[in-house]
Amino acid sequence: MVKVLIVSPFRKGKLIESVVSNIENYEVVNTAPLQLCTLLKSQGYEVAYLSLQNVFRTFEKKDIDRLEEILGKYLCEVLIVHTDYYMNNANVACLYSINLIIDIVKKNRPNSKVIYCGKLTEMLGVDLLEEHLPKVDVAIRGEAEPVIKTVLEFNYERYKNECVGCLYRKGSDIYSISGTNIIEDYNKLPPIEFDFLNETILELEKIGKDIKALPISIRTSYGCPYSCRFCENTEDWHKYRKKDKRILLSEIRNLKEACNNRLQLVFISDELFTLDIEHIKEVKSVFEDNNIIVNGLFSHVSDITKEKVELLRNITKSIIFGGESSLDSVLNISNKNSSYEKIVESAKLVKSSNIAVGFEWIVGLPNMRVEDYLLDLNNIYKLIACEIVDFIEPYVFVPHPNTYFYNNCRNIGMTICGKNEDMLEEGGFSTVSYKDGLSNKQITVMYLIYRYVIEEAEKAKGHISKNMKAGCVNIEDFKDYIGEFL
Ligand code: SF4
Repeated sequence: MVKVLIVSPFRKGKLIESVVSNIENYEVVNTAPLQLCTLLKSQGYEVAYLSLQNVFRTFEKKDIDRLEEILGKYLCEVLIVHTDYYMNNANVACLYSINLIIDIVKKNRPNSKVIYCGKLTEMLGVDLLEEHLPKVDVAIRGEAEPVIKTVLEFNYERYKNECVGCLYRKGSDIYSISGTNIIEDYNKLPPIEFDFLNETILELEKIGKDIKALPISIRTSYGCPYSCRFCENTEDWHKYRKKDKRILLSEIRNLKEACNNRLQLVFISDELFTLDIEHIKEVKSVFEDNNIIVNGLFSHVSDITKEKVELLRNITKSIIFGGESSLDSVLNISNKNSSYEKIVESAKLVKSSNIAVGFEWIVGLPNMRVEDYLLDLNNIYKLIACEIVDFIEPYVFVPHPNTYFYNNCRNIGMTICGKNEDMLEEGGFSTVSYKDGLSNKQITVMYLIYRYVIEEAEKAKGHISKNMKAGCVNIEDFKDYIGEFL
């Protein structure tokens, strides 16, 4: 039986985690790699899984001994590094830790093979094996499940005959077989088993964490119909697929019973959970039968309706939208299919059903001058202080490879700078500078100003008129305050 170790690599900690490196709350566990673990187990492989992203929320040089000790327990024949097929954020930012992990595994067992699964194969192309991951043997393009059995044979002639879209290394040469692998029907895969998280829990307990309810996110659908220019970057992005009630029911049962009942489902991480109303109804019935209410799920302001919101009322505490900006010019250049008016309408619609409404915001998108930032900050203040929205979470813009903005950076006047590990939306460090706009350092300062304005707006809740007029700014003073950073 081939011994396979699947790992989720870790990212650099957020700014706050450099200030407090032992934050007690747990990062939500992304269970997407468990789909591959479950499939391989059903195919007869001996599989172990480690979510190193959860074990190492921050990683310092001194942690290398612990990483070696953990990986030393798994003398695997094949290491599979899994960085998620959909989330951009779990990819480029992980390159540094993937190499650390591979070095240790190869030191322990020099003949072990390494397979990479995730978005990076499409994002970076041949550069992935040539420059970034020089010790990976095979990088699968697209979703690995349909071809993983063939890939694990390491018979490259078979790869060609069976059209396995991938990159592979033979001697010092790198070969590419065209095509992108896709799971046509997720319902034909075995329902996810969650006991694969036992090893991760064990490692967390060893560093003193008392795990009673490890927060878990699941996926019920895949793909997104929109083409936001900072996000879409894979060939099958629009191919929407969903899990049916039968599979979801089995997965929820597995989740509840796994790891001695110490997992707690808290989030649905589908790109756009609200796309298909029949799907919402199916998930709702599974959740209600199992008394599950998650903390949040994602929707889009052009997609939400009163009927959908009403259906969601008993299964989620909040609905989160990608707001990104209050400026229509920025939303248009980002191809967001949205407007400030729709943002406000959607927020009111959700709140009228007594569900909390939150927005993600992006600091550093193209087309922003200082005056635009000031107007955006003013709108954010009103949205929060007047309780039109319940929360706004700002992120820095990251130029993820193979997105429209990344591929057209020269036309946009955007220079990409900074290290791979800083390509992290929640990290707080900007990795772009604009010829006719702000530099990366100035965008980083602006991100902190967004956090400051959000905090001030939170304090003002309940103390100001809900009809407060928006747009009253003092550009001269604003430039004075932050002048030395601009
Ligand atoms: S709607 Fe959301 S998930 Fe879809 S392309 Fe836009 S940002 Fe990405």
